[in-house]
Amino acid sequence: MSDCIFCKIISKEIPCDFLYEDDKCLIFKDINPKAKTHFLIISRKHIPSIAEMASGDEVIIGHLVNCAKNIAENFSLSGYKLQFNVGKDGGQEVFHVHLHLISNFG
Ligand code: 5GP
Ligand code: ZN
Repeated sequence: MSDCIFCKIISKEIPCDFLYEDDKCLIFKDINPKAKTHFLIISRKHIPSIAEMASGDEVIIGHLVNCAKNIAENFSLSGYKLQFNVGKDGGQEVFHVHLHLISNFG
């Protein structure tokens, strides 16, 4: 998606505070953190939102959750919140699926 900011981060057209990447996802720091620790776990595939998941995308979404758990362990976060904002009315601003990892620890 040429006009998607997260696709541009994946293709390195736009820089980010990079933390981790693999074949299905990328993790970087949120540019406008809502807490002491605020990471975004995004899929490599351009899925606009949870509401627009296709058959098979549950593997990717499950992977995002697992990667969030792993990076929380790596940063020794004793507790955290995981959040998908879904749709404009759900507070979603970037229509490329992403999981927020938010913690007051770390
Ligand atoms: P949403 O409201 O769509 O669930 O969350 C989008 C998040 O992406 C927001 O927390 C916002 O701060 C973050 N964000 C938007 N643009 C950029 C960017 O260019 N770089 C980074 N690192 N985060 C961004
Ligand atoms: Zn995208």
